[in-house]
This record gives sequence, structure tokens and C-alpha cells, in this order.
Amino acid sequence: MRKIVAWKALPEDVLAYLQQHAQVVQVDPAQHDTFVAALKDADGGIGSSVKITPAMLEGATRLRALSTVSVGFDQFDVADLTRRGILLAHTPDVLTESTADTVFSLILASARRVVELAQWVKAGNWQRSIGPALFGVDVQGKTLGIIGLGRIGSAVARRAALGFNMKVLYTNRAANLQAEQAYGARRVELPELLASADFVCLQVPLTPETRHLIGAAELESMKKSAILINASRGATVDEKALIEALQNGTILGAGLDVFETEPLPADSPLLNMPNVVALPHIGSATHETRHAMARNAAENLVAALDGTLATHIVNREVLGR
Ligand code: NAP
Repeated sequence: MRKIVAWKALPEDVLAYLQQHAQVVQVDPAQHDTFVAALKDADGGIGSSVKITPAMLEGATRLRALSTVSVGFDQFDVADLTRRGILLAHTPDVLTESTADTVFSLILASARRVVELAQWVKAGNWQRSIGPALFGVDVQGKTLGIIGLGRIGSAVARRAALGFNMKVLYTNRAANLQAEQAYGARRVELPELLASADFVCLQVPLTPETRHLIGAAELESMKKSAILINASRGATVDEKALIEALQNGTILGAGLDVFETEPLPADSPLLNMPNVVALPHIGSATHETRHAMARNAAENLVAALDGTLATHIVNREVLGR
């Protein structure tokens, strides 16, 4: 019987589905050696949020497919998987809307100081009507700059343009004509986006090309009133430069779902900044979406091992062999 290694807890029904197709061995990824040993005679693997290095796959000669319960696949060395003939599957689409909701809640919470003021109320500070010192800024009618207008970026653009009457600018390597037509999104170069946007939102995958895409110079070129939103991956932003920019008033604030080190270390200056909304990487974290992602990833894995997977493939080159 086939063997599948799961390095993430899966919903009961999803686990039962996998068990109909294979022996499933659940491992705790923190027990590194046990995890690596389990991969040695596995046919497939499923999980998320753990870096899978080439060294971990040495000697895993039976391994034919890995399935990540995520759309992002920066935890994998894709070129190495391809060399080994291991197919990598991911879960696009199913998480698009809930992640766009998270992005929009960061936009609204940052602009309207929702977290800061809610804490202020709970601390018993609300004695009289608030004054301008606690006012926020408008979201509706403002300019949103989306760096990476793909599936999630488009869902954010839809909310912004149709729901909040915002102007949408974006950068992509290729034009997204559908979003241009549907949401009036305008493709510009990064410097123009940074100089014009009231909200700068990153939604690119993390790759060598996008690592530290936003650093000190880029933050410096943004409006002083701008708010940076990052729900892509922490390392698309140079976090040290962001901290300095927030401390120096280079930009107004930030709404962050992702960080260079996760969980965010207890000594991170971001934790003490009132103009930062920090979330624990909850982009897709609703009951419905996380369940759908797990189901999708399990189906991808079984289909990959059966040789019938046609979509959701990261390294299609493996199929040509
Ligand atoms: P997607 O559809 O592939 O969109 C990515 C967009 O980025 C594309 O429009 C792509 O357009 C653009 N892009 C710009 N520069 C790029 C570059 N150097 N390399 C690759 N693409 C580049 O992906 P998605 O489904 O919207 O997801 C985007 C990312 O969001 C994921 O990779 C993941 O890291 C992150 N995410 C985070 C959470 C969370 O929990 N916070 C949840 C889901 C996803 P061009 O190809 O034309 O450049």
C-alpha cells in the first residue's frame, strides 16, 4: 500500500479520505529526524508552513508527489523537486476570497485605527467624545496600489473599486486585462505606484526576485500619509527598513499579516507601535476555507499519485518525463 506522510493536522474527513487511498503517517515537523525518516519510504506528502529542504529529501527515492495546503510554495525548492521528478501541487482559488477579506480588513483597520481604538476603549479611556488626535483617514475614494494583481490581488481590486469607489493601480510583469476592464485597474511602473498610492498592498509570491521588493528607498518614495499592507510573505518587505520608516514617520502606518520571522518574536518593535496592525498570518484562516484547502490538497495528492492530476500543479515539467 502507498504511504503518505502528513506534517500538518488534517480535518477528520480529509484524513479518512486519504486513508482510503494510502497508509497515512502523521508526523510532528518539530521532530525533524522522525519527519525526515518518515519521508524516506513515502510515496507522497502533505502539509504546510514548514520549509522542505533538498537535504530532507535525500534518500526519499519513492517520493513522487508533495501537496502543500497553501497557494504559496516558497517553502519548497521547486527546481530541486523537479530534478528529483517529484510533482508539487498547491491550492489556488479556494482561498482567494477569504484572503482578500483579510487584506481588506487590514486596510480598514489600519486606516480607521480599529485595533488601537478598541484597545483604548477596553482600557477605560473613553470618558468623552473623541477629538482629531484619534481620527483615522478615509478609505473610500482613495488610491490603492496593488503589487501583484493575480488571483488575490484581483479579489482585493474588486472590493476596492466596486465596494469602496477606489482608484486601483497595479504592477505585474504581464498586464491583467480582465482586472483593467472590470475594475478600471491601471498598470504602472513601481515608482509611480509608490508615489501615488494611499494604500500600498503587496500580493506577490515570495521569490528571489520579490525578496525585499519594498526596502528603505521604496518606503522613502511613498506618501507620508500612506499605509503599507502586506499579506503576501514577510520577506517581500525589508522588515528592518519598515520598522525604521514607521518610527521616523516616513509612512503613516502598516497592516501586516506576515513577517520575516513567524511567529513574530516577542521583542519585535512592531508589537509596540500603535500605527501597526499585526495579525498572526490569518490570510485564509476561516473554518470554511481552511477545510476546503485541506480537502483540495488531499485530492491533489491522491490524483498526483494516480497520475491523473491536471490542475494545481506547480512544476508541470515533471509530467513530461
Ligand atoms: P497569483 O495569482 O500567482 O498572483 C501573483 C501576482 O504577482 C501575479 O499577478 C503576478 O503577475 C505578480 N507578480 C509580480 N511580480 C512577480 C514575480 N517576480 N514573480 C511572480 N509573480 C509576480 O497568486 P495569488 O493566488 O494571488 O497569491 C499571491 C501570494 O499571496 C501567494 O504566493 C502567497 O505567498 C500569498 N498568500 C498569503 C496568504 C496569507 O495567509 N497571508 C494567503 C494566501 C496567499 P505576473 O506573473 O504578471 O508578474
